[in-house]
Amino acid sequence: MKARVRYAPSPTGLQHIGSVRTALFNYLFARSVGGTFILRLEDTDRTRSSDVFVKNLYDTFKWLGFYWDEGPDVGGPVGPYTQSERFALYREHAERLVGLGKAYYCFCADDKGARKDEPEEERGEADAQAPAGFGYQRTCRNMDPAEASRRSSSGEPHVIRLKIPLDGVTGFDDLLLGRIEWKNADVNPDPVLLKSDGFPTYHLANVVDDHLMGITHVMRAQEWIPSAPLHMIMYEAFGWEPPKLCHLPMVHGEDGHKLSKRHGATAVDEFRKKGYLEAALINYVAMLGCSYEDGRDIFSLDDLSRLFSIDHINKAPAVFDYAKLEWFNGQYIRMLSDAQLVERITPFMIDASLVWSPPNEQEEAVLLGAAPLVKERLKYLSDAPEALRFLFLAPELPPLSDFVPKKFDTARTALALSAARDLLLTVDVSNHDATEAASRAKAEELGIKLGDLLLPLRVAVTGTRVSPPLFQSIAVLGTAKAVARADKAIAALKAAD
Ligand code: GLU
Repeated sequence: MKARVRYAPSPTGLQHIGSVRTALFNYLFARSVGGTFILRLEDTDRTRSSDVFVKNLYDTFKWLGFYWDEGPDVGGPVGPYTQSERFALYREHAERLVGLGKAYYCFCADDKGARKDEPEEERGEADAQAPAGFGYQRTCRNMDPAEASRRSSSGEPHVIRLKIPLDGVTGFDDLLLGRIEWKNADVNPDPVLLKSDGFPTYHLANVVDDHLMGITHVMRAQEWIPSAPLHMIMYEAFGWEPPKLCHLPMVHGEDGHKLSKRHGATAVDEFRKKGYLEAALINYVAMLGCSYEDGRDIFSLDDLSRLFSIDHINKAPAVFDYAKLEWFNGQYIRMLSDAQLVERITPFMIDASLVWSPPNEQEEAVLLGAAPLVKERLKYLSDAPEALRFLFLAPELPPLSDFVPKKFDTARTALALSAARDLLLTVDVSNHDATEAASRAKAEELGIKLGDLLLPLRVAVTGTRVSPPLFQSIAVLGTAKAVARADKAIAALKAAD
């Protein structure tokens, strides 16, 4: 049977690293076995779901560039793929379980679906995780079905609850973790499937949809393990074959706690805005708790799709290492061609108001000339405006102390800068070896170190002590502008003397 997997987010927050990891593993699994990857929007929690988060979901995956084969926006044979458009189905299935004697009407609830003396019921999705003995007392479980049916037909508010067997064991074979079992007596007693307002709970909608959508494998975060016995009991009650379950290891921060904002950026948007390349993020996230081929770190989406295997997923939690992700990003930046790098940094340059939108021809040429100079240095695309600003705007005159090499005074600095300025007029700045040799000769002639000759020039031209390679930068900037900046600095140094 062809594998069908789904990513089933609830649009109640921004897409974050953990959710993208779940989606990616499902995608890679589908690709590795020639299966289908489906998006299902689990928006049954109408108060917390928001279109803002749905938009964020679509934007995130369009940016990441791996997408579902079936879903609300692309359609497919088993739609609709948004749960709020499927409510009739859930009611029908809950009623079916009542008919089968596997679920029952419960009238203990007030009209909001929550009993005043049973606050945990209001916890909705979390109720599967309530400690045993802490939940519903099964008051309506033994009501005569005829009476229950009469009361429900007369319009009395009610919920539908699943009958959890009173004894015995429920379990499943997790593809990663092996056999997991619960005593039924320990499973949350008789959870609500359909609320009194006719809305399904997460459990009902999730199980009905996985079945109706032909899902063969459920890969989701380990935090969903406590829901699994309930789901298994429901499959059994319906007489359906359950999908295979695979609960993925959690993603932790370096301190061993679940990855959260405390550790740093977690929303994918933040990484995008910071200037991470999507290929780097995908590569890194794919390795969170899974290995591919020994001795290699860099994998394209195609490589990952080919090499992915559930057998290579670790059981232990994965640790999110921001420094490692940064390393990946640097690697991916270096792999870009100059033209690609220009394309990727341009939005950041526009945002910083350093170039027009779109850049004009001259700006385009400067960016292309500068690309090889910064490619080795950028950690993120967002570093580009700072590194390249001097090519588009004359820097403010830095404090004079920035110009002065160790053991120099301003007069001596002015002399060194004048010499370097004059040198600029005699060399071909685009010829690295020639400028290097000429600068060395000049430094020797003046009896100073090469670094001390060039530092004041670097500060004058770029406004900072740390810049891309100096002469190559000047080649992109134009010698005339560099000389003018040097002249301004020389005048300031002399005036201070
Ligand atoms: N809607 C659930 C979530 O937000 C889906 C859990 C599952 O994959 O079964 O993660």
